[in-house]
Amino acid sequence: MQHKAERHPEIREAVRALCAGFPDAYFREIDEARGYPEAFVDALTKAGWLAALIPQEYGGSGLGLSEASVIMEEINRSGGNAGACHGQMYNMGTLLRHGSEAQKQKYLPGIAAGSLRLQSMAVTEPTTGTDTTQLKTTAVRKADRYVVNGQKVWISRVQHSDLMILLARTTPLAEVKRKSEGMSIFIVDLEQAIGHGLTVRPIRNMVNHETNELFIDNLEIPAENLIGEEGRGFKYILDGLNAERALIAAECVGDGRWFVERATRYAGERVVFGRPIGKNQGVAFPIAEAYIEVEAASLMRFAACDLFDRGEPCGAEANMAKHLAAKAAWEAANVCLQTHGGFGFAAEYDVERKFRETRLYLVAPISTNLIFSYMAEHVLGLPRSF
Ligand SMILES: Cc1cc2nc3c(=O)[nH]c(=O)nc-3n(C[C@H](O)[C@H](O)[C@H](O)COP(=O)(O)OP(=O)(O)OC[C@H]3O[C@@H](n4cnc5c(N)ncnc54)[C@H](O)[C@@H]3O)c2cc1C
Repeated sequence: MQHKAERHPEIREAVRALCAGFPDAYFREIDEARGYPEAFVDALTKAGWLAALIPQEYGGSGLGLSEASVIMEEINRSGGNAGACHGQMYNMGTLLRHGSEAQKQKYLPGIAAGSLRLQSMAVTEPTTGTDTTQLKTTAVRKADRYVVNGQKVWISRVQHSDLMILLARTTPLAEVKRKSEGMSIFIVDLEQAIGHGLTVRPIRNMVNHETNELFIDNLEIPAENLIGEEGRGFKYILDGLNAERALIAAECVGDGRWFVERATRYAGERVVFGRPIGKNQGVAFPIAEAYIEVEAASLMRFAACDLFDRGEPCGAEANMAKHLAAKAAWEAANVCLQTHGGFGFAAEYDVERKFRETRLYLVAPISTNLIFSYMAEHVLGLPRSF
């Protein structure tokens, strides 16, 4: 299916060529085995695609968010799932923006080369959920280390990462002026931490998404692993979220395009009542509508990326892009499944797998209501609700 004036055609072509080596059957088998797409992530890393946002001076390619978004989009559009590795693309942004020069020199070249994986970021907790400033995990400074205690949930890719960014409270809530103050971020060396204060319990879930519960019991982190200033961690995390949202939006656009293409193909081929089912407007129109909505979401993704790349505020656009794209992808998923009738449920068509995968993005990394709440308060100026 031709899309007019697609941006970054040379990147699209190269990523598509790489993805062609990892066809539907590859991702289907990984999904069935609840495995990790090691060979795919390795190939992507070796080709340098996951280091797109790392500046050239640290060994990356120094591309913009717009280009990075197209890389993520093409992975999902090819039938794959960038969720297995998207953390590697954007988690390093926190280090890049707020880390010391020594930290950047220590980690970024390895991340760019693929010898170090920074796939994980631990924010969410079981008892406080989206209400992040209430989180219970604490980090207490003791001489040259911080001692961390607490619990995290839904922390993805820990088993396939070397490093993890951890958000913890360093000043008790009662002692800060604003609840967003007094939290800090740390870089955790997972090999050193697991079994020495950090316990990882995998969570089997609807998608093949490697995600875990973390139990943290007197985990010691060297003080030099604090990123930026103590107490400003929440702000640092927020700084990275717009990039994350725009990239997830791009993955949803990729999913949406995959669903529309598959639905269109099947509607043209499947003959029932002596005619291709796509000849019936009841089948064709929902596919056309899904196409329109995916294309519109794609434009909002580029609006967010362009602002980000110019260094301008893009909170509203990043949130709108994430919402429009997640919703468009989910609607396209429903249409694709419906178009396939019973065969949509058969694993060999991959529709049910992609259907499960794309549903996640209406909940994570930020749920629909929290986007509405952001827009209502920060864009429309309505009263704060919490
Ligand atoms: C597969 C998966 C992978 C994940 N990976 C990571 C990860 O790597 N790192 C990480 O830190 N987190 C991760 N998460 C967590 C994810 O970001 C959260 O699940 C998500 O932000 C929602 O938080 P919650 O589950 O605690 O829901 P809750 O905060 O408990 O909310 C539940 C529901 O209530 C709604 N709600 C809550 N408060 C309000 C309100 N005031 N007004 C209106 N509606 C409200 C929410 O929109 C939501 O629909 C992951 C989650 C999943 C499922």
